[in-house]
Amino acid sequence: MFKKILIANRGEIALRIQRACREMGIQSVVVYSEADRDAKYVKLADEAVCIGPAPSAQSYLHMPAIISAAEVTDAEAIHPGYGFLSENADFAERVEQSGFTFIGPTPESIRIMGDKVSAKQAMIKSGVPCVPGSEGALPDDPKEIIKIARSIGYPVIIKAAGGGGGRGMRVVHTEAALIHAVQTTKGEAQAAFGNPAVYMEKFLEHPRHIEIQILADQHKNAVWLGERDCSMQRRHQKIIEEAPAPGIPRRLIEKVGERCSAACKKIGYRGAGTFEFLYENGEFYFIEMNTRVQVEHPVTEMTSGIDIVQMQIRVAAGEKLPFTQRQVELRGHSIECRINAEDPVKFIPSPGRITTWHPPGGPGVRVDSHVYTNYFVPPNYDSMIGKIIVHGDTREQALARMRTALSETVVEGIHTNIPLHRELMVDAKFVEGGTDIHYLESWMAARKR
Ligand code: ADP
Repeated sequence: MFKKILIANRGEIALRIQRACREMGIQSVVVYSEADRDAKYVKLADEAVCIGPAPSAQSYLHMPAIISAAEVTDAEAIHPGYGFLSENADFAERVEQSGFTFIGPTPESIRIMGDKVSAKQAMIKSGVPCVPGSEGALPDDPKEIIKIARSIGYPVIIKAAGGGGGRGMRVVHTEAALIHAVQTTKGEAQAAFGNPAVYMEKFLEHPRHIEIQILADQHKNAVWLGERDCSMQRRHQKIIEEAPAPGIPRRLIEKVGERCSAACKKIGYRGAGTFEFLYENGEFYFIEMNTRVQVEHPVTEMTSGIDIVQMQIRVAAGEKLPFTQRQVELRGHSIECRINAEDPVKFIPSPGRITTWHPPGGPGVRVDSHVYTNYFVPPNYDSMIGKIIVHGDTREQALARMRTALSETVVEGIHTNIPLHRELMVDAKFVEGGTDIHYLESWMAARKR
């Protein structure tokens, strides 16, 4: 096992990874920007290295600074967390070429999954169900494009092969709008991702976002740890996640879960990963794979009792997964609310000093957050300041615990989306379960009127 790991991230996930290291008796090195000097995990770290000024391009995205920090501190492995460089194949490659272990999949796996066209092709080959669409990138010939759209049937969605973060997508309802939409998306894709390739999919009108968590080792073992329902989204950003997904028959989930772990074995995947699906009318459609730990991993930890971050570290060190699929037991129900420093109605970011931070507690309540009273939320990064996660024997109990937890939470000095979560936890449709990916936005539009 590693003696020392460098954490190439910030915020709650830096603290989360540090906790895993500490529990395993591994020393942690954190890197931080000048804006994060006062972060809790910086104080708690065995070693901390300032890697640059606040802008991410000069700190958390600056590969040479991170690799030198690993060199000067004699770290053996680098955990990239989520966001920043976590899905950057070039970074993974440079980490390994510099003699460190990258805690994640191989650069090749990241590359294949990072290009949505090659990811989809790999999934089709592995028997994972995908959204009906073009075979690979769209050709240049407009006649061919029109033919493909006709065979898929409108509405269709044009997506950038190199896209991410909900950008580089355009829905097309009629043939008249098709060619212009393809050309515009191509131009945007070239500008934003340096790759003009686009592809076409059937646009699903009322899907749910369901994803499967997997873990794989370097000895051809792969397991899936159940699903998460992440349909409560605003602008393609998840704000509430839960496990299991309400109302989906277990046998359907099991079938798709088995396909995902089989695909991992087939492509030689290692580490933690997530297969994201749209679910509509009893069918799953793969949309993309995330080759890293996700923000919402705690709901799976709560229902499976498995520490996903520790497993990432163990398989990166070459260990075998310590359990088989049959030993994975999922229990109860878990819900996560992402707490963002933002206006709960207008969603304008609200950085600044937190004058009171009183997190909730009690049975089945977990808080993953790096903030504290008197902490200054810097304006430079993502607005998420923490996550409240609850677990109960049933969904009803989990909902009741989340309501109690949210009622106890006090954050003063900045605005947060806690009032929004309080409203959603008593919303009749959400409480019933099974809302689709458009529900939150239509709920917000109705609230405004
Ligand atoms: P990104 O990598 O940018 O997050 P995804 O492929 O994961 O892109 O898609 C992001 C979101 O876009 C999905 O969660 C869903 O809301 C919507 N979306 C993507 N593909 C489709 C589709 N074929 N039909 C309907 N909605 C889609």
